[in-house]
Amino acid sequence: MLNRSIDEIIDNALFTEGNLVRLLSINDSGGMEYLCQKAYEIKTKYVGKTVYLRGLIELSNICRKNCYYCGIRKDNHAVNRYIMTKDEIIEAARLSWQLGYGSIVLQAGEVVSDTYADFIADVVKSIKQIANGGVGITLSLGEQTKEVYKLWRKAGAHRYLLRIETSDPEFYKCLHPDDHSFDIRLACLNDLKEAGYIVGTGVMIGLPDQTLERLARDILFFRRIDADMIGMGPYIPHPATPLAVKTNGFADSRDERLNLSLRMIAVVRAVLKDVNIVSTTALQSINTTGCEVGLLAGANIIMPNVTDFKYKKDYILYENKPCIGEDAVLSKDRLEPRVRSIGEQIGYYKTGDPPHFIRRNG
Ligand code: SAH
Ligand code: SF4
Repeated sequence: MLNRSIDEIIDNALFTEGNLVRLLSINDSGGMEYLCQKAYEIKTKYVGKTVYLRGLIELSNICRKNCYYCGIRKDNHAVNRYIMTKDEIIEAARLSWQLGYGSIVLQAGEVVSDTYADFIADVVKSIKQIANGGVGITLSLGEQTKEVYKLWRKAGAHRYLLRIETSDPEFYKCLHPDDHSFDIRLACLNDLKEAGYIVGTGVMIGLPDQTLERLARDILFFRRIDADMIGMGPYIPHPATPLAVKTNGFADSRDERLNLSLRMIAVVRAVLKDVNIVSTTALQSINTTGCEVGLLAGANIIMPNVTDFKYKKDYILYENKPCIGEDAVLSKDRLEPRVRSIGEQIGYYKTGDPPHFIRRNG
């Protein structure tokens, strides 16, 4: 594809499904470089060159779901299940703040009960007491009722990540058992918005039977639901999952998945402009410079893992998760030079909310 054609689509916002597919199919290195550069300019203009950090706390791997792709799915009986105590979670949040990370993400498998809802609300309130409410709290705890979302919002959480995984209801069925509902997931995104959260969603990239058309429609879906944050990363098979046996030639190799993930980041930046986009752990795990190249393609958020090793080793969603053996401090020391090497800076102690949300509520 000619650079001129890339310019024409992006500069004139001609974001039809067909044009997005054209951008996503660029596979020569010159074209990729040009697309990423263009996305980088848009990122610089709309969100700047500061990278915001979210300390990731994987508070539990107990899950009631059976997503076909995920290593901690309920039916994987080889997993040693855990839930961190309140004190342990708060300790991890404190460590994260001491490292200068302005926000934390509390992530876990999906648990639905009144006791759990109250436990999380209590934890959130206590974390809010660290640094006089300075720590931004993002939750990624799956599908819950509107009331629970409101309860947690009131306790002090202000962002929520819930990936739609795919915006195609038929394809959703290929990735999940029958009792997992696309409509409920969609309704949850709506409930989150109504509850006043900054809402993040996203998809995995390079799934068997995924197509560029589907990915293009995912991007249009992000725009349609007016998402504030996007977290997307390459799909990485986990051997103990049903989906791992499937390969069909769609972005099967790691290189293809890496490059397609970068193009997705770039195109999402070009279309959505002022949102936060995560350079994900999964990206880093398929390439040692995944984190930096993600930033260069248009991402502006990194989520260093601050979960204690004792638990982290049991939170394996996919093979080869990076930094499993590293502690949070080491990861931070590695991060700083990486971010500097590409001429960016870290927004220490800043929550880094997306301008999109501020505009949406303006
Ligand atoms: N249970 C919550 C949060 C934890 S899972 C939820 O599902 O929303 C967080 C994300 O990990 C999922 O949304 C999914 O997109 C991603 N994930 C799961 N298995 C994966 C795999 N094999 N490769 C890449 N990402 C995966
Ligand atoms: Fe559970 Fe989330 Fe994994 Fe699905 S993706 S099995 S909901 S942890």
